[in-house]
Amino acid sequence: MPAKGDMFYAMSADKAIQDKGELGGAVTTLLKFALENKIVDGVLAVKKGKDLYDAQPVLITDPKELINTAGSLHCGTLLMSKLVKKFFDGAEKMRLGITVKGCDMMGLYELAKRKQVNLDNLVMIGVNCGGSVSPYMARKMITDKFGVDPDKVHKEEIDKGQFIIEFEGGHKGISMDELEDAGYGRRTNCRRCKLKVPRQADIACGNWGVIGDKAGKATFVEICSDKGADLFDKAVKAGALKAEKAPDAGIAVRGKVEKAMLKLGDKWREKDFKGLGEGNERLKKIMTDTSKCIKCYSCINACPICYCVECSTRKPYLVPPGQVPPPFMFHMIRFVHISDSCVNCGQCEELCPMDIKNSLYMHAIQQDLEKMFGHVPGIDLSLPVLALVEEPTERTRLASTGSDQIYDIFKK
Ligand code: FAD
Ligand code: SF4
Ligand code: SF4
Ligand code: SF4
Ligand code: SF4
Repeated sequence: MPAKGDMFYAMSADKAIQDKGELGGAVTTLLKFALENKIVDGVLAVKKGKDLYDAQPVLITDPKELINTAGSLHCGTLLMSKLVKKFFDGAEKMRLGITVKGCDMMGLYELAKRKQVNLDNLVMIGVNCGGSVSPYMARKMITDKFGVDPDKVHKEEIDKGQFIIEFEGGHKGISMDELEDAGYGRRTNCRRCKLKVPRQADIACGNWGVIGDKAGKATFVEICSDKGADLFDKAVKAGALKAEKAPDAGIAVRGKVEKAMLKLGDKWREKDFKGLGEGNERLKKIMTDTSKCIKCYSCINACPICYCVECSTRKPYLVPPGQVPPPFMFHMIRFVHISDSCVNCGQCEELCPMDIKNSLYMHAIQQDLEKMFGHVPGIDLSLPVLALVEEPTERTRLASTGSDQIYDIFKK
């Protein structure tokens, strides 16, 4: 029986899944095995919709249909965690198998600690993630930089630091660094992301570290929990999954790539946060940018931390109704409620019709809070710092200081 921390190369024993899968179809096979053997009642995965820029979440209850979800969609910027809360009752009554990127997994942890998702009913198959490209940006980048009609592209992948496309008439790759320096490439939150291998899931799968004759044909699997070990073991013993121990050289390569990606994340954080300035300068920038807001509520609807039935931004004594743009209080409410727990998933920015850099601002504040209190959101079930502030203590402090600023992060 494998144990937490064990690493394998794995691929499906089913030729059709092997061919359709991104790297041998291990993820699809594990999910199919869980469904067939009633370990889960359904699988929440992602399938290609109209084209490869259209990633659609789908609930599957017939194991035969799982093959339709095989393959990675790097222009699929959707977030799975909020879907579990919104449409599946937080997996309270249904056992779900689910594919998760780092941000999906972190969102699930934040919802779980607020008792909005039941992690016990989830089997999380994690996929390593170097980043995703928004569908709009992908089309623009393929047109401008690759000189190819995006509708003629039938496959895209991100490999060895390149964005690669296959299209009618050939294939072409351009380095991600070059694309990003020119203002294209991954979403800005993905550039800052440092959750590259989702070890808080039950199993973490990816292509990094697969070397030799298995390169491109198998998935590197890291067992991350007892639940994951049990599923993997059963799938191998039943002959659904082919697996072999990952070689030391492959493990070393994977470690190196992960380290390099984390360094790159640090570089982007430094660049992005520096660009915001500090103190009043930062506040002014945020106030100016958010003054474009049309109060569409997309940022709230998409955020995995926002789940309140009665949202404070809809309370007339806090945010007067019928006013567009809304007063800064609208955004302040979100900064105060979310910033300690923001997982930098990017949804609030990606879906903002006014292109307000919501995710950048929230992530910058979250990082300040993390430095102050050491609370890292999304990786375990420890409560955020602000959840630990006691009302009587706060009332006493307010009465004695006359200030409602606990930590004046904008002070010069
Ligand atoms: P398959 O059997 O083909 O299953 C793939 C699973 O991924 C399916 O369940 C499918 O529903 C799901 N999926 C597809 N697109 C998405 C999406 N956008 N969001 C959530 N789930 C999705 N591995 C690395 O080692 N390094 C990387 O940098 C890296 N980047 C990735 C970026 C993205 C956006 C994705 C989705 C995956 C990435 N991977 C990365 C993982 C890798 O591409 C393979 O998914 C993994 O090796 C499993 O291969 P497989 O053949 O076993 O998966
Ligand atoms: Fe991947 Fe991180 Fe971007 Fe999520 S935020 S898509 S885990 S790089
Ligand atoms: Fe994601 Fe934005 Fe919510 Fe942060 S604030 S968790 S980036 S939606
Ligand atoms: Fe809840 Fe605040 Fe988000 Fe509204 S903005 S849903 S009150 S956390
Ligand atoms: Fe305002 Fe953008 Fe949020 Fe809509 S998504 S409410 S426009 S900040």
